[in-house]
Amino acid sequence: MKIVHAASELFPFVKTGGLADVCAALSKSLAGFGHEVSFILPAYRQILESEAFKKAKLKVVLQIELDQDFLRGEVYALSLGKRQTLYVVRRDEFFDRTYPYGNPGRDYDDNDRRYIYFCKAIVETMHLLDIKADILHCHDWQTGLAPLMLRMEEQESGISLALKTFFSIHNLAFQGLFPSRSFRFTNLPEEFNAVDGIEFYEQMSMIKGGIFFADKIMTVSPNYAKEILTPDFGCGLEGALQVREDDLIGVANGIDTEVWDPSSDDALPAFYSKGNLAGKKACRSLLLDEVHLPQTEKPVYGMICRLTEQKGLDLLLRQMNFFVKNDCRLIILGMGDQSYERALKRWVKAHPNHISVSLRLDENMSHLVEAGSDFYLMPSIFEPCGLNQMYSQRYGAVPIVSAVGGLKDTVVSILDDPEKGAGISFEPTDEGLKGALNQSLKLFDDKEAYAKAQKNGMERDFSWKKVARQYEELYSDSI
Ligand code: ADP
Repeated sequence: MKIVHAASELFPFVKTGGLADVCAALSKSLAGFGHEVSFILPAYRQILESEAFKKAKLKVVLQIELDQDFLRGEVYALSLGKRQTLYVVRRDEFFDRTYPYGNPGRDYDDNDRRYIYFCKAIVETMHLLDIKADILHCHDWQTGLAPLMLRMEEQESGISLALKTFFSIHNLAFQGLFPSRSFRFTNLPEEFNAVDGIEFYEQMSMIKGGIFFADKIMTVSPNYAKEILTPDFGCGLEGALQVREDDLIGVANGIDTEVWDPSSDDALPAFYSKGNLAGKKACRSLLLDEVHLPQTEKPVYGMICRLTEQKGLDLLLRQMNFFVKNDCRLIILGMGDQSYERALKRWVKAHPNHISVSLRLDENMSHLVEAGSDFYLMPSIFEPCGLNQMYSQRYGAVPIVSAVGGLKDTVVSILDDPEKGAGISFEPTDEGLKGALNQSLKLFDDKEAYAKAQKNGMERDFSWKKVARQYEELYSDSI
């Protein structure tokens, strides 16, 4: 099949979250199965400055209509490997910036124009390059209007651009909502500025484009696919999603088992595997040294995430005393809301021997945190899929997760199944997290039970190969 993916992030070029990892691993796996995979991405500054871009070839010049203007753009091609081409849409006015979506604390004011432009550019690129795709698979709100715009362009030109369109929701909390006056940049007929179009409570919703106009809607775990049909998790879009329920499919993400492999991970001081965990001790020891915490026999808890409400920071902040009281170590790597950053810094100042917080993006350190931790914390309020709970199982750090979204699909709790359990899950409440933390102390004391949980996790197959086969089947069943 000819498969085109379009998204606003792709590892290792541009990444703010799991979307980048998923896009990279999925397209790599599909190309590995023999499919012709194209990926369309905005040419952000990180791309323009990358080594790979030095070899990029200019393919086509775009002329994109945005309200009453016609804006030029260029599409460059970069080879990502066998059967994988990356097309980057270059318009420096929009994409040559330090961050993809906004400066810290504030989104860019022209994100409506930037991403409407990108949606149009996706369709135009497919047209001008004459890709004739079997599948166009768009990811998240930044590409939400592309499935609709593709059909409009097909109608206008009489040319088939893609047989079927898929739209993936990686996180329904991010919807691409803009004032209704932004609708004019779409140049779509006014009939789409309606409740069964992309209007959302007198605003314009880019994610609604994907939800209503893609042939299939996907999300990143079976449990999240069920949750988003309810008011608790539907973020106001549960009604729209219910309309498309028959075409909504949840497939849990996989992980890149080559990038995340403790037996060959260059970011670690020593390698280890499920048969021989000796190297994990060296990782633990180096991790504690690196974050200036004293060595200890007590459990080390790790956490790597965006510091936002979603990730359960409120819950965690109310349990911080647990780590101090029990002489444990808590190591957090993340960036995010200033209020959380400040609150965490205060804890570090007050308890420098127990708590460490690294407020930065650091890919290498994220590997060391997974390898050096005894437990991995993920007290999310909601979690479409989550990746770190899978990384942590592979790295022998027993995950402590709230029982929501993909965390429910990917972590078997020892409380439910002591034989196969590989983590501890809890309801995301104060009582729930407190209970789970106490449970983890008990588990750590019972060396045999702890080793079993570690081993169960390390034995799980979270590889993308398995997951990508499900996508392949869904694509081929749809055409
Ligand atoms: P989300 O996409 O909601 O942020 P996921 O768990 O799906 O959450 O994916 C987050 C990804 O980003 C993981 O690979 C995680 O390790 C990584 N990550 C988050 N914060 C940081 C950070 N500060 N440094 C390095 N990696 C990070």
